[in-house]
Amino acid sequence: MKRVAVLGATGSIGRQALEVIDRHRELELVAASSGSQPIDGLAPLTQVGGDLTELLERARPDVVLNAVVGFAGVTATLWTLEHGVDLALANKESLVAAGELALAARERGGGRLLPVDSEHSALFQCLEEREASTVHSVVLTASGGPFRGRNRSDLADVTPEDALAHPTWNMGPKITVDSATLANKGLEVIEAHFLFAVPYEQVEVVIQPTSVVHALVRFRDGAALAHAGYPDMRVPISYALTYPERAAVDVPPLDLASGLRLEFEPVDHDAFPLLGLARRAGEQGGTYACAFNAANEVGVAAFLEGQLPFLGIAEVVEETLEQVDGAPAANLGELVAADEEARRAAERGMALA
Ligand code: MG
Repeated sequence: MKRVAVLGATGSIGRQALEVIDRHRELELVAASSGSQPIDGLAPLTQVGGDLTELLERARPDVVLNAVVGFAGVTATLWTLEHGVDLALANKESLVAAGELALAARERGGGRLLPVDSEHSALFQCLEEREASTVHSVVLTASGGPFRGRNRSDLADVTPEDALAHPTWNMGPKITVDSATLANKGLEVIEAHFLFAVPYEQVEVVIQPTSVVHALVRFRDGAALAHAGYPDMRVPISYALTYPERAAVDVPPLDLASGLRLEFEPVDHDAFPLLGLARRAGEQGGTYACAFNAANEVGVAAFLEGQLPFLGIAEVVEETLEQVDGAPAANLGELVAADEEARRAAERGMALA
């Protein structure tokens, strides 16, 4: 039996994880948490809000599925890696904001870091721990979101409702807006850098509108391996929770006879500047990526409340990155301070606008 703790159990990933656990005899749900929704009786141990490390200490899980939304997921990521417990990571923000601290914690703890993000699960499977020197580049695909094909001026008046209508993936509001701005792909570029130790210039992003190809790895001999399948998060969730077993999942096999189309397009960086801003923040190092994430969270929340236009999210992020000092964080306390500094700078920027 594998003892599983699901953090963020009421969100889209959390609910699908519970479904996967329910259908797999070797997986036992021992703890669950939510941000604010009541979850009494969902698992033997439950917690709503608060410090998740207390729940993890009591639950003693073999694997933690971290599906918390945003920076709030950092402490659980660090606890899990530090304690040598396997981490199935859906909270990409924690690796973006705390990449260096997380890798150091994994080094000390010795547990496995298993990506749940579909693109990174795909890369993990294509790479299979092959020699880094054989890899030419990794390619993350993006659906392009609901605004694919629109130019910058078309995006001035789009509403939260428009942004929440994602064409291929059914997800929570934060990540759905991030998919519409391509900030999500920016976070994923940074996530890929930390997960697979690939330099930023070897991480490429391409639009693949049907979300059937999740990622590709190009090798130095000209061969490329792609990971394909229908977009269904139960697949990467199950892969991470049952690794290395690759348990059965109740999804239809890819139907090629019906005329599957696999088209690829370049990204329009003028319409979707957050992807480039994230990449630059990652390259700058230190806590710039943490600041990118913090300002983006502030901007997305304001957009969803109708207080910021769609294109304003990128403006807030760009201004915030100019204001923060980006100095590296030596510990969680310094990282939290950098996160808070960036949030204040983002709030100030919006108040002045
Ligand atoms: Mg993804």
